[in-house]
Amino acid sequence: MSEAKNIPYKIYLEESELPKYWYNVRADMKVKPAPLLHPGTLKPMTAEDLAPVFCEELIKQELDDDTREYPIPQPILDFYKMYRPSPLVRAYCLEKKLQTPAKIYYKFEGNNTSGSHKLNSAIAQAYYAKQQGLKGVTTETGAGQWGTALSMACSYFGLDCKVYMVKVSYEQKPFRREVMRTYGASVVPSPSDTTNVGRAILERFPGTTGSLGCAISEAVEVATSTPGYRYVLGSVLNQVLLHQSVIGLETKIALDKYGIVPDIIIGCAGGGSNLGGLISPFMGQKLRGEADYRIIAVEPASCPSFTRGKFAYDFCDTGKVCPMAKMYTLGSGFIPAPNHAGGLRYHGMSSILSQLYHDGYMEARTVEQTSVFRAAEEFARVEGILPAPESSHAIKVAIDEAMKCKETGEEKTIVFGLTGTGYFDLVAYEKFHNGEMTDYIPTDEDLAKGFAGIPDIGIE
Ligand SMILES: *Cc1c(COP(=O)(O)O)cnc(C)c1O
Repeated sequence: MSEAKNIPYKIYLEESELPKYWYNVRADMKVKPAPLLHPGTLKPMTAEDLAPVFCEELIKQELDDDTREYPIPQPILDFYKMYRPSPLVRAYCLEKKLQTPAKIYYKFEGNNTSGSHKLNSAIAQAYYAKQQGLKGVTTETGAGQWGTALSMACSYFGLDCKVYMVKVSYEQKPFRREVMRTYGASVVPSPSDTTNVGRAILERFPGTTGSLGCAISEAVEVATSTPGYRYVLGSVLNQVLLHQSVIGLETKIALDKYGIVPDIIIGCAGGGSNLGGLISPFMGQKLRGEADYRIIAVEPASCPSFTRGKFAYDFCDTGKVCPMAKMYTLGSGFIPAPNHAGGLRYHGMSSILSQLYHDGYMEARTVEQTSVFRAAEEFARVEGILPAPESSHAIKVAIDEAMKCKETGEEKTIVFGLTGTGYFDLVAYEKFHNGEMTDYIPTDEDLAKGFAGIPDIGIE
């Protein structure tokens, strides 16, 4: 691909060049993502149905398949200025180390205290909650990044924040918890005895280390039963992908500035928010027939929603209190092996990305945990940044693709999302260094148990 000379190590944008709107990729999808369904009536959820759970403006965004651009409100733009634009880095040192003719770029979203891209949506969701005059919000957090981001956003706007944290992370990551408390959030390990759904799960599965699906049920129960509260979610939802489009928009503006055209765009996929955000404007071009890119979603072999899941309507949470979504899913009862270190543990996947994957607009690949940490270490040693384990899934595949270029001599341009830093993941790094880390791949029988919980609702 042609490109201008003298690409700086970091491509920054001027304040005047920053995106002023979010891009809604659904507007360009010919086949729209399937609507959320009411778990009781199996009818598409209306704004009225969603009102007890979510903030009004966010419901509008959630249900809007048509508006292409959403202006970013000024208070959110002001907050973004604290840590955006995030740098687009040319990985010159990694390229040299790999001796690859490929050109590798990464969009680094770890340059804020929460340490990940999740702040991009947290600040938007907190803003709309405040606008509506709410007292506070509830949420779940897995590895803790979302809870941290939301705590920061809530303290900025003076909102109360209750976080249900998956128990295994609560215990493994006490420092995360303390960061959240520093920003004024209250943090409860999930499953807990503070909710009906938590007590029911504890009774059925004593000693469970929890799951995101279970923590979601608890947070929703508290939001819908406490006046002045709503529930917010850090991934999977259409609104979150909309807010995260700021990642892709900045990336595209930076690349365009230097005439760089990517061949391959890579991102890790938990619920799909960073990947969805990174690829949005590129996918838009692809959907409109203006350009073509290879887009690769990377997921852990231990939680393979895209690559081994089923594309079906399923519950979004273990307690089955949330609307149902059509997505690639391992079943809401699927609980990934506790030995898996990253935050990519959710059983489902964004409906937008699920539809795009189903329609052949992107690929998906799984990687095993130890190979991910090897890639993380290789990256850290030359590029300096200590990557989050989640982000390192993308690093692994970026390196794999760069090594293929080395074999073929192709000078491909690879862009990947480096979603965050790994300072709170040092227990996992320690296990890796001590040779105690294992690769767990669920058997077909393991997966069958999860699939058995996918309801047959007679709707394709
Ligand atoms: C949460 C998180 C992810 C995965 O979530 P997505 O919604 O799939 O983006 C990836 N990387 C980091 C650092 C995270 O915190």
